[in-house]
Amino acid sequence: MTKSFILDAGKIQEFTKEHKLQPFRIKQLYQEIFKNQNINFADMTTISKELREDLDKQFSVTTLKVDQIIEDRNTTKIWFETHDGFMIEAVILYHRQDDKYIKNNSPKLNRITLCVSSQVGCPMWCIFCVTWKLGIKRNLGRDEIISQLLFANNHIKKKFGKQEDWTLYGVRNVVFMGMGEPLLNYDNTKKSIEVMLRQEAGFSLSKRHVTISTSGIIPWINQLIKDDIPVQLAISLHAPNQELRDKLMPVAKAYPLAELMKTIDTYVKKFDNRIFYEYIMIKNITDKPELARQLVTLLKHRLAHVNLIPYNNNPAIELKESDEATMQAFKKILEEGGITVTIRDSLGRKMKWACGQLGYEKLTQQGK
Ligand code: SF4
Repeated sequence: MTKSFILDAGKIQEFTKEHKLQPFRIKQLYQEIFKNQNINFADMTTISKELREDLDKQFSVTTLKVDQIIEDRNTTKIWFETHDGFMIEAVILYHRQDDKYIKNNSPKLNRITLCVSSQVGCPMWCIFCVTWKLGIKRNLGRDEIISQLLFANNHIKKKFGKQEDWTLYGVRNVVFMGMGEPLLNYDNTKKSIEVMLRQEAGFSLSKRHVTISTSGIIPWINQLIKDDIPVQLAISLHAPNQELRDKLMPVAKAYPLAELMKTIDTYVKKFDNRIFYEYIMIKNITDKPELARQLVTLLKHRLAHVNLIPYNNNPAIELKESDEATMQAFKKILEEGGITVTIRDSLGRKMKWACGQLGYEKLTQQGK
């Protein structure tokens, strides 16, 4: 028998009826999953053994199988296999405290971010990215997006245990910056965000700690505004003018920069959220000083933060990463123009943290 996902409300209702369970039993179950960060019924010891066994026969807590985990001190990269044999990737990033603030050998973690995938592959064809080379296989379902988070929290609990206040370490920020364009999988992105934000049977994340990264699909940004989804927005901008954006990102032809900026202005007006602009630093292409000046002109009267992302050299693409001095000079022009800006740190660089900068080797091995 195929097992149902534990957040399938209809199936849980049937199960509750069938087993004549009091509502508090289901509350206990969700506490075990979301608060105690368990993904195996056997570990849910606040629930009777008999009930755990019955649940285990009919339900699963994640819909993905872990294929491989690669970690170092600051990151955990997890490859999942979907039920139909595709590989997707999620990355946990551990933001550590500055050494000078460390006391008592504690885990020294400031916060933990999870970068989730929303599609298998991507249809957007950005020239600096490898993900689209695989084509788009399919959208991930709500349960597959949520499963990445459930697994991550369980992994973090095993790795770090409890914080000083006795609550468990867990994911505090979620960014839709893995494989795929989340707004082209709007319904499942929206439904998974509902679970991330809600307190009952959910992760209780703050809306300020969930970020959708998009290449700029105007109709779906408008839909976010209409549906009143006040999470953070990161725009994969990568060029300050239409001509260069056209060359780097085919999406720009369908959704021109001027219109995109107008749509973003409407979003900011509604939610009063600062927008994160992702800007990739490619040698002799996006890193010229005149482009930095154009970026200042584009953003100086807008609520904006620019993340400069060093391009990750990749044998599958003939582009080169900007050198450090050029990046610093570019940053300085933005700062002098009054724009807040960060160069993605070594943590992000190593993990290729940016839309479409995640791994490729594994995917090509699939040959799908
Ligand atoms: S950069 Fe992002 S939107 Fe563009 S092809 Fe890659 S994954 Fe898709």
